[in-house]
Amino acid sequence: MTKVSIGLRGWRFDESELFDANGEFRPLTEMSPDTRDRIARLMVVVNDPCDCCWLQHGESDKQRCRSAQVVYGEPLHEVVLCNQHESDFLYWFREEDGNLLTGERTFDSAFHQWFADGGRAPDGYGGLEHVDTDPETVPTPTPAEELPSMDEKLAELDEETLTELDVNLDDLDI
Ligand SMILES: [Zn+2]
Repeated sequence: MTKVSIGLRGWRFDESELFDANGEFRPLTEMSPDTRDRIARLMVVVNDPCDCCWLQHGESDKQRCRSAQVVYGEPLHEVVLCNQHESDFLYWFREEDGNLLTGERTFDSAFHQWFADGGRAPDGYGGLEHVDTDPETVPTPTPAEELPSMDEKLAELDEETLTELDVNLDDLDI
């Protein structure tokens, strides 16, 4: 089974669950509840700023926040990061016992607290090898530029399906 990411690096899906034989995006209603939750959440966070940039600059200096490139953790307890801050997360995950919180509700808040308290990867920390925050999936890094765009895929979803899923499109500033 091929694993693919969509919109952001990090979360991976079975390609055959997202796309039919013609490469068309399947209706969300045909996906498993877990996949549906992740896709619905991705639609929201894909337009979010990086959590670390946000912690550094906040609302007052929004334009200095880089956009999310990667997502780790579980829906609603996810961490979204820009490429520059991914190494801080990976350091926390590997060296500061963040991995022990995989699947826990405190996953995101524990990382945010560590970062807000000044936690950082050491200079030159080799961050770019992907880690897996979902015990079910097998990591196969996909360069960001090869990921399907979430916007394109979103356009293929019909509104009725989204309403059924109770996705609040007002949260999306597309
Ligand atoms: Zn950042």
